[in-house]
Amino acid sequence: MSRPVFSPNVFANYPLDKAGHRRRDAAWLENAAADPRAMLAPLWRMQPFLMGAPRGPREIGWLGMHTRGALGNGPLVFLGEDDAGAPLFALQIPDRFDVADSPIADLGSFEDMRAAAAQLPAGDIAMLGCAKALFEWHARHGYCANCGEKTALVDAGWKRQCASCNAEHFPRVDPVVIMLAVHNDRCCMGRQKQFPPGMYSALAGFVEPGESLEEACARELFEEVGLRATSVRYHSSQPWPFPSSMMIGLIAEVDGDQVTLDKDEIDAAIWLTKEEARQALAGGLSRDGGRIWAPPPIAIAHHLVKAWAES
Ligand SMILES: [Zn+2]
Repeated sequence: MSRPVFSPNVFANYPLDKAGHRRRDAAWLENAAADPRAMLAPLWRMQPFLMGAPRGPREIGWLGMHTRGALGNGPLVFLGEDDAGAPLFALQIPDRFDVADSPIADLGSFEDMRAAAAQLPAGDIAMLGCAKALFEWHARHGYCANCGEKTALVDAGWKRQCASCNAEHFPRVDPVVIMLAVHNDRCCMGRQKQFPPGMYSALAGFVEPGESLEEACARELFEEVGLRATSVRYHSSQPWPFPSSMMIGLIAEVDGDQVTLDKDEIDAAIWLTKEEARQALAGGLSRDGGRIWAPPPIAIAHHLVKAWAES
């Protein structure tokens, strides 16, 4: 089955049928887990398990379901069914488990999620990002926000339920607006102190209660760089599992180019023409004896700047 590609962003374009209606069907899930085609993708300390040569093509290190017991019997979540109908799961190996002394030690390696994103096919990293976001959520929500008692994983990992007050808790997604301010064919990019030297990116901030995405965008632009948005348009979005953000990419027209920095948030801001932005995306733009560069393709900011610079 071919799926439409809605987004240019890493972690988007999930390749499975999530089969959400199966999550509450215990008998179906039991059969699915026993299906000889069923496989699990292990994560340990939020790092995915990869197979393939370190410098060659890599892929998710899928394992048979029988390995769960030998890998510490941690939480299992149902990712969905692939195009052939095979059920796929993700397993969280307990942090304290000694993976170096396990039966899978020689089969592959656990890698940082950002490093994995640069090495894997789009569908693989989308599944792993989903698994990481779910496991991060489970790890932080062991207790009921309503009554304080313990909660348990239910619905194949897509819900937690409190045994005491019966409250249901669903995986959280935190919306973040990330916006490129543009004015007279130039765009504004900023840098935070902790960025690597020379890197500038689109500005971003969490959406607050009581505001639309457009209002959040306008507020953040004014707070961080003193720019006034006059119109806001949507570009694309990106699930960002660090730990549970939803990056919402926007392009905002602003009414001037005079910046006033909030120095607690933004260390410096610059205006780039489309040609300069293309150079920054390509690896570096020389300016004032230094090199200015934009984030790599793992970041939605890259695609936001690219879409504008190539328009
Ligand atoms: Zn409760």
